[in-house]
Amino acid sequence: MNCPYCHTENSRVIESRTNEDGATIRRRRECVNEACGRRFTTYERVEQRPLMVIKKDAKREEFLYDKLYRGVTKACEKRPISTEQVERVVEGIAQSLRIDFEQEVPSSVIGERVMNALKTLDGVAYVRFASVYREFRDVETLAKEVLSLLTETSDKISG
Ligand SMILES: [Zn+2]
Repeated sequence: MNCPYCHTENSRVIESRTNEDGATIRRRRECVNEACGRRFTTYERVEQRPLMVIKKDAKREEFLYDKLYRGVTKACEKRPISTEQVERVVEGIAQSLRIDFEQEVPSSVIGERVMNALKTLDGVAYVRFASVYREFRDVETLAKEVLSLLTETSDKISG
């Protein structure tokens, strides 16, 4: 880090302190040029870049928590699912995306994760979301999905 006074290229860190929010580090530095030797402060923080969603047509759009939340809420409408449960699903997905994808995530991955989460939460909400997401063209595909869901459910009960 250049000294802001004499523009010498090097400086020595004499103190580092993490701010209360844990997101910023404040460093006290001292110019290595003996003729100058002045002290100055720098701040270091994590760069929060937006996560981009790669859509089917390869266009990118910013990942929006609210949009995901609205989609899941809609699927869970009039079902015995609390707002807290919806929040937990959405937060879990948003967090897993941040961990697994640094900059870009295919929209298909988000869809799959929502479906997986809803599958264990509520069958109806799952089918609702899947029917919109997978754009079931015919009743047969939808019926297959519902049937496989019912089979899984009865497996769970009997197993
Ligand atoms: Zn200096």
